[in-house]
Amino acid sequence: MGKEKKPRILIIYTGGTIGMIENPDTRSLQPFDFTHLIDNVPKIKKLDYFIDNIQFNPPIDSSDMSPQHWVDIARHIDNNYDRFDGFVVLHGTDTMAYTASALSFMLENLHKPVIITGSQLPIGEVRTDGEENLITALQIAAATDINGNPMVREVAILFENYLWRGNRSTKMSADNFNAFKSNNYPSLAKIGLGIHFNEEALWRTKSIRPLKVQYGLDNAVIVLDLTPGITEQVLRYQLATPGIKGIVLKTYGAGNAPTAQWFTQAIKDAVDNGMVILNVTQCVNGGVHPMMYMSGNQLASTGVISGHDITSEAAITKMMYLFGLGLSTDEVKRYLNCSLCGEVTI
Ligand code: ASP
Repeated sequence: MGKEKKPRILIIYTGGTIGMIENPDTRSLQPFDFTHLIDNVPKIKKLDYFIDNIQFNPPIDSSDMSPQHWVDIARHIDNNYDRFDGFVVLHGTDTMAYTASALSFMLENLHKPVIITGSQLPIGEVRTDGEENLITALQIAAATDINGNPMVREVAILFENYLWRGNRSTKMSADNFNAFKSNNYPSLAKIGLGIHFNEEALWRTKSIRPLKVQYGLDNAVIVLDLTPGITEQVLRYQLATPGIKGIVLKTYGAGNAPTAQWFTQAIKDAVDNGMVILNVTQCVNGGVHPMMYMSGNQLASTGVISGHDITSEAAITKMMYLFGLGLSTDEVKRYLNCSLCGEVTI
């Protein structure tokens, strides 16, 4: 029998708690060199994989993540796509769901696993969750189905006991080890004694086209979060933010907003002036149902598009991606109303 080919995995270390140590002087956490990460997880050597790594220099706290960093991560994947079976991105938890969502749109025709993970406690700490997350992420990135094809062919977040679709995930807890959740989509895998994939939930595409990375992201997009007491002046000021092409409007419940005439008129004026406004619920679970209440209905009549059950992380990055493609306003609206890579239930 021929010798089995070793899985080839590329780790892209961007920073975050997983690679942090305590500064003895200030006692605050700061990033350290990736070499220490491997030193801290000797178990990695027990996996019979070929593992290489690339690290951000310097590693960053994910609060500093920007579209340019997403481009950098995507470029590393693009440049190494044919040489590796899977990719593990080590990332801070704070903006992990944004990065996962952005990459899911940028990496068109992805047929290999891109598993993003991090940890709540630094990998050097005795009770760290980082070691387990890293090892499991590597195993998922190497997993194949009965035909030898990658089990995961999408961008996913592995955290503690679950694998979630990246563009469906949200950071739910600043304290718990199970920090992520996809509130409107089932887990892609449950991690227990073994890794149990939910094959029906995994993204599968019939397309056999090669990977195409879209590097152009347009960050002319903002989030406008509604709160009771918002005034016409504040609303109109935000809707007229210079250079903005798209707004993720975070509404109440099933997509509801104030019914006052000044509110509807201000939104309508913005839409008529070419602003793309996507209605996304503030609730963590469920979605926008514009016809359920008069207030939602009235908002829909202004030309605001329903975001259905999309997360705000996916909504904002999808808009950046669509505007980055140079599409017309109507085309952007059309694609917002479709699922491109499993980010929304239409
Ligand atoms: N502030 C850190 C970050 O997101 C927190 C973490 O890694 O969990 O980079």
